[in-house]
Amino acid sequence: MATYKTIYKCRVCGTTTYQRVMGRAQTGALEPTGEYRCTGCRNVFESLRAWWEPQRKNDFQPSKFSGAC
Ligand SMILES: [Zn+2]
Repeated sequence: MATYKTIYKCRVCGTTTYQRVMGRAQTGALEPTGEYRCTGCRNVFESLRAWWEPQRKNDFQPSKFSGAC
């Protein structure tokens, strides 16, 4: 799977690379779902922006990620 390197960092673990999440289409072909998976912490984000942009609105829950990083 291709890995993309960016000038941005994962807001969770600081990794600068991510992968596009692939899923099965109805035709059976693999195609991007539009989501992104961090290559560091393996969390899946709904958009590239969600991957690098620090979240301030929602309450951050360190315990949720403590096992992954
Ligand atoms: Zn990460």
